[in-house]
Amino acid sequence: MIEFGKKGKLFIVATPIGNFEDITLRALRVLGEVDMIFCEDTREGKKLLNHYKIDKLTDSFHAQSNQGKTEKIIELLEAGKNVALISDAGTPGISDPGVALVHEARVRLPEAEIISIPGPSALTAALSISGIPTDEFIFYGFLPHKKGRQTIFKEIAELKRTAVFYESPHRIIKTLESLRKHAPDKKITIARELTKIHEEILAGSAEDVLAIFQNNPEKSRGEFVVIISAE
Ligand code: SAM
Repeated sequence: MIEFGKKGKLFIVATPIGNFEDITLRALRVLGEVDMIFCEDTREGKKLLNHYKIDKLTDSFHAQSNQGKTEKIIELLEAGKNVALISDAGTPGISDPGVALVHEARVRLPEAEIISIPGPSALTAALSISGIPTDEFIFYGFLPHKKGRQTIFKEIAELKRTAVFYESPHRIIKTLESLRKHAPDKKITIARELTKIHEEILAGSAEDVLAIFQNNPEKSRGEFVVIISAE
């Protein structure tokens, strides 16, 4: 059971990245016990909560949420309410808006407990099945869309450690073209649609992987983690 102290607790709850079975018993218990659940997208959050018959008050907390939403959460914690934050997928705070809330809560309410409920993340799931060394890697999150993007590709080309980033379906082809230009000899591994029906690993040089996408346009849809080996 959650202990009820003076200040509320903020639970950062990891949720599935595609397969609803990938949720911990602790996550389900906490989501069932808190006073309120903030979701990156309430419609997405509700799908998971309904699946597990968790009937809770929800509200949104996303990238466009204004300061007022953070204030609301801070006020709830100050009033002793227990609050959970979930993302659309994976671990809140890993390349999604959760990081801003946790930062603000730590600064504004240093006495409030912020508790991780660990679970899936596309980052760790991808690395775990890539077969690529993970003793040293650099995670770029999402690459900048314009300014600085080519500089990062040049940096990755020179890296002596594994590089990882998240990519969207709109940019995957362009990204592979940039990797072909800047890092033609490196091994590229793409983890696509992890934990879902069409989960797959595509690997080879940027040229090889690009050819797979060009020959199979349907593969450009979905969600991707891109891993570039050191060598
Ligand atoms: N916080 C999340 C986590 O811990 O994985 C990541 C959030 S980020 C906004 C979303 C990105 O994660 C997607 O664009 C994609 O690059 C990656 N991603 C999420 N789910 C995925 C999946 N099932 N397969 C591959 N990549 C995925």
